[in-house]
Amino acid sequence: MDYISTRGSAPALEFEEVTLAGLASDGGLYVPREWPVLDKDEIAGLRNKSYVETAVTVMRPFVIGALSDDQLRGLCIEAYGRFGHDAVVPLVQLDSQNWLLELFHGPTLAFKDVALQLLGLLFERFLANRDTVLTVIGATSGDTGSAAIDALAGRERVEVFMLHPAGRVSDVQRRQMTTVLAPNIHNIAVEGDFDDAQRIVKAMFADSESRARLSLGAVNSINWARLMAQVVYYFYAAVRLGAPERPVAFSVPTGNFGDVFAGYVAARMGLPIAKLIVATNINDILHRALSSGDYSCGVVAPTAAPSMDIQVSSNFERLLFDLSGRNGAALGSMMSEFEATTKLSIPTDMLTLARTLFASARIDAEDMAMAMRWAHDKCGQVIDPHTAIALSAAREHAPADVPVVTLATAHPAKFRDAVERATGVRPGLPARIAGLFDRQERFDTLPATLEAVKAYVFERS
Ligand SMILES: *Cc1c(COP(=O)(O)O)cnc(C)c1O
Repeated sequence: MDYISTRGSAPALEFEEVTLAGLASDGGLYVPREWPVLDKDEIAGLRNKSYVETAVTVMRPFVIGALSDDQLRGLCIEAYGRFGHDAVVPLVQLDSQNWLLELFHGPTLAFKDVALQLLGLLFERFLANRDTVLTVIGATSGDTGSAAIDALAGRERVEVFMLHPAGRVSDVQRRQMTTVLAPNIHNIAVEGDFDDAQRIVKAMFADSESRARLSLGAVNSINWARLMAQVVYYFYAAVRLGAPERPVAFSVPTGNFGDVFAGYVAARMGLPIAKLIVATNINDILHRALSSGDYSCGVVAPTAAPSMDIQVSSNFERLLFDLSGRNGAALGSMMSEFEATTKLSIPTDMLTLARTLFASARIDAEDMAMAMRWAHDKCGQVIDPHTAIALSAAREHAPADVPVVTLATAHPAKFRDAVERATGVRPGLPARIAGLFDRQERFDTLPATLEAVKAYVFERS
């Protein structure tokens, strides 16, 4: 399988190259040249398979040429062996129609572990093949940073520089990053907000001196391998609820459109998905885009679900590419217009096509709190704010007569204050991070400028 850019002019790459590359050189994102399809029997055959065997079957077509089945299986056994639940991603029934898919049993308690634990192993393997090194630079509002740091700590050939906005991530989130003392991990608290951190990272990638000196790698969901790893759990959950005979709907708390795009990939691969519900908080660019075609940026408003406080959803471009009939040239000019004006009006034919699979909902703070209380009072489940947004959307917008799976993306202990405010229950820290507040922290604080961060990175890589 090779990979092509959504903007049509970057060279096609193989899986190994695409994993190490991040953004395409024409500014686009890489997608597989075609969507592989699993037939009905193959999907039915997943019913009795473990998570690891499901992962091998679903990811096999994407990694052909780069990894044998046995190599892929070995990496999955190692990555998912670190999860705290035997089922890796257990399904929990809430009522007669609603289920939660708990994606937070990995080392850092958010769904990002599912992809990043595997990505860390892929980096290590591919860098060894090529006898080369990678400098990973990322900005985080919390969950990506800790998941990437856990996955990459102590790995050879990778230096990690993770920028977080000083004083603007939760104590649990900060300590999950800064108490990792491995010498290849460098935490930087930037004196600014998340957008400043993100801007500096983008500037590093665009800076010719940095590009000449360093081989830069990406760990956010512009990296195709992350999305690929997330396709697996849509299959894993749906077959347990009756697929391929019975269609299943999913509700997904959405920020960068990565997780829900993985659901779209599952549908293209033949999984019968009745609806994909894109749940946003009040930062609702995706809800506006899917309901009225208005894809225009506003100002980010901070909420209790910070991992969804996003205005530009990078992976939406991957969907627009398919909706345009995979016309890279046309999409390239649409995206340049968006980058210049920060708005885009999605043509009606593309919107109509999108709506055959996607629904969307904007959930405010009150509805989010109500969903947390419903889950707790009626179903005995304590859920985090991100999950609550998707559950609220699921209960309002799901089609009748199909099972609906809400993706539970973070453990409630990561957002203890918000959970306590809504439900009166303060979730305890799970055993695997129980010592978090006794550990030593290490990080450096830098001004929010490219020069400061660049000098820091050059000194250390
Ligand atoms: C990252 C994140 C999301 C958003 O996922 P996207 O792939 O960016 O849409 C939702 N919930 C939690 C807890 C997250 O960490």
